Amino acid sequence: MNPDLPKEKIGAGKSGRSFSPGLADSVRYLKGVGPRLGEKLGQKEIFTLADLLLYLPYRYEDRRELKKISRLKPGEKAVTSGKVVASGKSGFRRRPTFSVVIDDGTGALTLKWFRLPGNYLEEKLQKGRMVVASSVARSYDGGLELHHPELEILNEGEDLDSWSFGRIVPVYSLPEGFSQKSFRSLVARAIESCAEQLPELTPREMSAKNNWPLAREAVRNIHFPRADADLKELEEHRTVWHRALYYEEFFVLELALALSRREMVEAPAYLVRAGDRPIQQLRELLGFSLTPAQERVIREISGDLARRRPMHRLLQGDVGSGKTVVALFSALRAISSGLQVAIMAPSEVLAEQHWLVLHRWLDRLGIESGLLTSAIRGDERRQILERTASAQISLLVGTQALIQEKVEFARLGLAIIDEQHRFGVRDRLLLKSKGAASRAPTVGGTGRTPHILVMTATPIPRSLAMTAYGDLDISLLDQMPPGRKPAQTRLLSGKDEKKAWSEIKKRCNLGEQAFVVYPLVEESAKLELQDATRKFEELSAAVFPEFKLGLLHGRLAPEEKERVMEKFRAGQIQVLIATTVIEVGIDVPNATVMVVEHAERFGLSQLHQLRGRVARSAKEAVCFLIAHPPLTDSAKERLQVMTETTDGFKISETDLRLRGPGEFFGTAQSGLPPFRFADLIRDLKELALARNDAFAFADTVDLNRPDLAPLKKELLQKYGKLMHLARVG
Ligand code: ADP
Ligand code: MG
Repeated sequence: MNPDLPKEKIGAGKSGRSFSPGLADSVRYLKGVGPRLGEKLGQKEIFTLADLLLYLPYRYEDRRELKKISRLKPGEKAVTSGKVVASGKSGFRRRPTFSVVIDDGTGALTLKWFRLPGNYLEEKLQKGRMVVASSVARSYDGGLELHHPELEILNEGEDLDSWSFGRIVPVYSLPEGFSQKSFRSLVARAIESCAEQLPELTPREMSAKNNWPLAREAVRNIHFPRADADLKELEEHRTVWHRALYYEEFFVLELALALSRREMVEAPAYLVRAGDRPIQQLRELLGFSLTPAQERVIREISGDLARRRPMHRLLQGDVGSGKTVVALFSALRAISSGLQVAIMAPSEVLAEQHWLVLHRWLDRLGIESGLLTSAIRGDERRQILERTASAQISLLVGTQALIQEKVEFARLGLAIIDEQHRFGVRDRLLLKSKGAASRAPTVGGTGRTPHILVMTATPIPRSLAMTAYGDLDISLLDQMPPGRKPAQTRLLSGKDEKKAWSEIKKRCNLGEQAFVVYPLVEESAKLELQDATRKFEELSAAVFPEFKLGLLHGRLAPEEKERVMEKFRAGQIQVLIATTVIEVGIDVPNATVMVVEHAERFGLSQLHQLRGRVARSAKEAVCFLIAHPPLTDSAKERLQVMTETTDGFKISETDLRLRGPGEFFGTAQSGLPPFRFADLIRDLKELALARNDAFAFADTVDLNRPDLAPLKKELLQKYGKLMHLARVG
């Protein structure tokens, strides 16, 4: 009998009797985990036994067979074991090579560590110790060596344990205070104690349809795979056990999206029944004919608007594909049906831009529009608010402050959100919760929800279209207006920037215009970034004395920005030095050359947006990306992709892969909680499957079915508040 046992049990359990902890219990109740180790586990967010069970290994090691030393072959990855018979250091004192010789009775093998700091291993690998080592065997001086092997050092008197040897073993990202071996046996104990209690979230009909194993079986098998498991699938985290968990996780999200969507489209909306006359008028005003893609998307939107259910549609179209015109047609339908339209842009500059473009058309159609930014104050602001509340203004342009502040509309029929990737799910859902509710009273209690059109120039990868945008219908503007040439892209290093300047000179002498873009406004000595302000002065004085230069950055007052933009648009400024405020929406077809300084600092989608600013006419445009080494691998890949393709989808897929879904949206997060297991890129198949299943399921199944209780609970816990799932509970 182990004399320590009673003490441990008192420390661990609630009584001296045998106590089997459950899923929700603290890991401290596990035998051998005291407060100290409990705290270490907490650093990895492992608090309960459920957390521990769901803490999956990140890789595996094939230890089904321990090779005898005599049977090792050079070049082969092998797991072998033996007793330490000798050890020693050689080479430089501060960075020595440490060698250990082990023997298993069939032969001897040298383990080597080069430039080994500290003497941790030296202390651990004393003579007589049993070790298991794994690495690629190399032949050296007639013998075999393992360099920097993975080690498992057995404590005195310890046997090889069956969780760690003679099987495919899991390898975890370890909390402090644990070895792979001790952590493995901890997981094994948690599995024995309560894997049975893991809730099954996937409805049984969906498990049956897709042949999924139970979640508890999946968890068991992911930690301790069967001997006949497929190693490659394991390494890729794509066994059926893994995939079942991904599916489950996606299913919960997709069900939430399906329910959220159902609630949205069940709300009453204004019926838009506009005659075709104003539309015809607008067509005549345009001076160009719409692309077939524009025609198609306008039809899709008109179809939505003619229903009594609110539209929730995402319009994707690359920079320059003509989204504004589509927005204008949609707005016109709503307006000529007696409704109001709000257009929201992600920044004040862009809101101003939109308004400038739109109100020219609207004025000619006799439609009153207004602009509301923070620069508009006092009397003017009051008037705009009043005229909006009384429906004199039919179209109001602004930033998202339009939804966040209490701007009252008399009859808000359509909300258009531009450049959605800056908004995130959360902001969009604000429209769902507040859109109708906060304004309905002023409409005389109609309680109607506005139709919503979201526009984005960042092509949304399929995985995000099914998640972060999963509650929206999608329209695609997959065609550019005729005569557009994609910009040529050239990569330059900092010392070659003269080439870019001379191209600018050439272009400006032909009457064309140029952008020079910088990443930051203020000088940051640390990052050694070139400051746009300083550069503006330098370029004006030394490089382009013959041209008129302008400076545009985020710190300028809005009127000042507008003045600069107007001059650039009118051709009074030839070279515009700017920070990324020009990233989206700036439309000056005569600008045909762009220089992006410190291109390595920009995100991929951002670069794509920027470049789009100079591919807006039939003129041959060129974009110089100036990179200043040293470049990270990711920066190299970004720049490489930019020179290889102008395909927005390709670019955003790469961007998503490089940055991950959270970052992809820029500072505004996607707004969705992260996945525990699934990976949007790797597990796209399960995502698509879960989406189809969940949307079908939502239409037919009563969530109050007793066996669905765990699913319902998880759904509400994770997404209830975010998605305002009012009617699930
Ligand atoms: P984005 O999708 O980037 O918002 P815009 O709506 O700003 O694109 O359109 C870019 C430019 O192309 C604008 O000057 C717009 O007037 C013009 N444009 C839009 N549609 C067409 C078309 N069918 N034919 C020619 N020019 C068009
Ligand atoms: Mg636009």
